[in-house]
Amino acid sequence: MQMSKFYITTPIYYINDVPHIGHAYTTIVADVLARWHRLMGDDVFFLTGLDENSAKTVQAAKERGFEDMQKYADRMAENWRKVWRVLNISNDGFIRTTEDRHKKTVKDFFTKIYEKGDVYKGEYEGRYCEGCEAFLTESDLVDGKCSLHKKVPKIVKEENYFFKLSKYQGKILKYVKNPSVILPSSRRSETLSFVKGGLRDTSISRPNAGWGIPVPVDPKNVVWVWFDALLNYISGADGRYWPADLHIVGKDILRFHCTLWPGMLLSTGYELPKKFLVHGFLTVDGQKMSKSLGNVIDPVYLSEKYSADAVKYFLIRDIPLGEDGDFSERVLITRLNDELADILGNLIHRVLTFIYSKFNGKVPKPGELDKRDRELLHLIESTSPSVGNHIEELNPGAGLREIIKLAKSGNKYFNDSQPWQSIKEDPKRCAATLYVSAQLVRSLAIMLAPYLPSASERIWVSLNLPGSVHEQRWDSAIEPGLKPGHKIGEPEPLFEKLPSKTLTEGKKSKNQAPNTITEQDFSKLDIRIGKILGAEPIPKSKKLLKLSIDVVGEHRTIVAGLAEHYSSEELVGKQVAVVLNMKPVQLMSIKSEGMLLAAEDKGGISILTVDKPVKSGAKVR
Ligand SMILES: [Zn+2]
Repeated sequence: MQMSKFYITTPIYYINDVPHIGHAYTTIVADVLARWHRLMGDDVFFLTGLDENSAKTVQAAKERGFEDMQKYADRMAENWRKVWRVLNISNDGFIRTTEDRHKKTVKDFFTKIYEKGDVYKGEYEGRYCEGCEAFLTESDLVDGKCSLHKKVPKIVKEENYFFKLSKYQGKILKYVKNPSVILPSSRRSETLSFVKGGLRDTSISRPNAGWGIPVPVDPKNVVWVWFDALLNYISGADGRYWPADLHIVGKDILRFHCTLWPGMLLSTGYELPKKFLVHGFLTVDGQKMSKSLGNVIDPVYLSEKYSADAVKYFLIRDIPLGEDGDFSERVLITRLNDELADILGNLIHRVLTFIYSKFNGKVPKPGELDKRDRELLHLIESTSPSVGNHIEELNPGAGLREIIKLAKSGNKYFNDSQPWQSIKEDPKRCAATLYVSAQLVRSLAIMLAPYLPSASERIWVSLNLPGSVHEQRWDSAIEPGLKPGHKIGEPEPLFEKLPSKTLTEGKKSKNQAPNTITEQDFSKLDIRIGKILGAEPIPKSKKLLKLSIDVVGEHRTIVAGLAEHYSSEELVGKQVAVVLNMKPVQLMSIKSEGMLLAAEDKGGISILTVDKPVKSGAKVR
């Protein structure tokens, strides 16, 4: 069979913050599709990455006290990679727009369209929204404000390079008219009417303010961040997988993707992307997610609390892809308890423990199958291709719901067959029931692999099957792949049920007044200012640094988890706050005598220093 190529992308994300549940959702959708295509035997390239050349980066770096923008970008990139690791995302590529390979692509591209005569210099006066990082037209405004950012755009007059987008109006119109290009169709109509309204030439440069990719023909300017960002889809896969088979984008960034992007590609002779899947926004408990409301959901927190699989299960099952959806932790818990634990986990556990305890852990020889057995096997055979169709049609949620329906039928089959009864009265019948049930467990592992990558692998291991579930073929889910006599591993529960109070208790404790302490309590702490004389890495530890600190002539050794946040050079010479009377502890065979005070948030760790220089040993109170 000919292997087909499948190149899928997420948008590249801004590094002004760490990922929230909305970014996680987009990336998880891409992950499910990528994993399914791999099981189909396709040559998959799944790309995600970061848009680092944005003015938002400059702003965020300043807010966090970074003078060196690249250092800030590096640190944020590490944070983003970490989140995708925690969420078990299977991306093949990770592109950062500050990488040389990307800068080179942008310069080459700009030069190409420039040499083609598709770029001209012109004076421009317009309304620039800093949130969008784009000039807005009259129709983008509501009461004079950007409809997305609710801010009055700045009037900007500058000399810019323009791309002759209008030249490609006819071709772009034809492209977006194709019903297979933009999904869902409501988004296609929206794009269509925008393109029909007439495409204007687009400014593709901005004055160089020290951050961004210089325009190759005129370094006093930088390449406009959108022109730059869109090219990640080519630089991130070294052009090898182009054209993209699927760009997943949010509804807010559809316009640039379906006008400027095809225009740029047409100008340079590249093929156009095959498909765009446009998703909506996530609200949280019915409210818009925002920092000021304090309801921004951290996907790492959720994964650590419930498992990455549970988060993925909820998002794919409950959010209708293409529309706006609502995130609710309460519903997540309900799904985890009622479906993952009670239906799926329960089925798999009861089948495997029965085989383990009653058949010496070996898949029994079935003998003759009866009607009920055959019905379940047929159901497996019809479910797997149907789930595949749903995923192919970009409706992975429907596929997941079918898998749960199959597991539900499995539970009913097990109950109706009453193996605990038949093992005494008709052992051959019992053997048939467990043989069929075991096939179902194996099939479920394969079907769940795109959705629940770690739980499906754990089922695979429990079945003691060779290799990884992620190396199997999707079609093999319909085969009875467990031979009689095959020895399974020791069964382990798959999902743990959570007490229904989990959520409410969690919320309550957050709102409780913190424990109060007296001045006397506080005076027990001997906090002093010391100066860092040395900071050295500790072999075999990625996180820890060994600090040598001078406090009134006394040298203290303190081991602190700063290695991922500070370099030695940054630390040496700093005046820091140290708790001197901490009980010493051994860390990596080093005696740590005290504790350094630091603040921590999603952006990382920031150590406490003094506002003005003070004498070493000064007391903090
Ligand atoms: Zn805006």
